[in-house]
Amino acid sequence: MAITFLSVAFILLLLTACGAWLAARRGAQRSGLPEGRIIYSDTGAPVGRIAPVTLNERGEPQEKPLLSHRHALVGRPDYLVRTDEGVVPVEAKSTACPANGVPYESHLMQLASYCLLVEETTGVGVPFGVIRYRDRQLRVDYTQELRETLLALLAEMREARKAKDVHRSHDRTARCAACSYREICDESLAD
Ligand code: SF4
Repeated sequence: MAITFLSVAFILLLLTACGAWLAARRGAQRSGLPEGRIIYSDTGAPVGRIAPVTLNERGEPQEKPLLSHRHALVGRPDYLVRTDEGVVPVEAKSTACPANGVPYESHLMQLASYCLLVEETTGVGVPFGVIRYRDRQLRVDYTQELRETLLALLAEMREARKAKDVHRSHDRTARCAACSYREICDESLAD
């Protein structure tokens, strides 16, 4: 009798665990996140697995920002998901994906910054990141080339901070059109 009871209890436990796993998997699929375990969330339900949860100015719990002293960089990705390939940052955008399927440069650099911050925080390389646009999600491989482009941009920004005036460094109208500073920028190429 005892064995039967234990067997039933074990099967129930197993079914519950399977149900929870399937629900989590379905939830992740519905939300468009890569398959895996969410270990960081800045979208209202902090997880606190990378660093302790902190409180914002309204007293609400929030994930602690990821910080790199070495690169003078701080940021709070929307999600970090531990996948079979490694920890993956996910950035959600309310805008539609660009028609050509290539992420906006600012979004790309933001995602690359999160990859760098994860790399610095965990000490492990990041395989890729995801930009989740309103209508489509893009996987972005965190290549050595992308990492170097980001490091060059960060160095440029550090230099620019010391300058009295900073002028436009490119001739790309599309970049200005997608820039959130264009309304106040004197050198914008976009109308
Ligand atoms: S609008 Fe101004 S700040 Fe934005 S990309 Fe163009 S030049 Fe740079």
